[in-house]
Amino acid sequence: MATWPTEVRRDHEARLLRVLWQDGHRSDYEYDVLRGYCPCAMCQGHNAGPLRFQPPPRPVTAQTVSQVGNYALSIAWSDGHWTGIYRFDFLRSLCPCEECRERAASAASARTEGKGSSGRSR
Ligand SMILES: [Zn+2]
Ligand SMILES: [Zn+2]
Repeated sequence: MATWPTEVRRDHEARLLRVLWQDGHRSDYEYDVLRGYCPCAMCQGHNAGPLRFQPPPRPVTAQTVSQVGNYALSIAWSDGHWTGIYRFDFLRSLCPCEECRERAASAASARTEGKGSSGRSR
């Protein structure tokens, strides 16, 4: 595993989940974005492709955040949804900061071939 959170805070005013990582990196996740990337089968369906963003119909709040084993966070949302398990590496890959966005973009352009066969069922 690359890194793990040393501190997770909910900032209800800014509607952010603030994560401080073991390597010193900081990530601020908007609640709605995190909710939209909920990786559970209910939200994502059962296709094995990359996780898709499913915007929540209404703004949500993270009500409880708990650690799952030593590999993930489980988040219970104000819309009653609580089955999402956010693995640390997945969470880190969602980091919206500029540095991480740029790295993700260059990684994506390095492997653009082989795309386009995403078996979307909906
Ligand atoms: Zn879900
Ligand atoms: Zn980042």
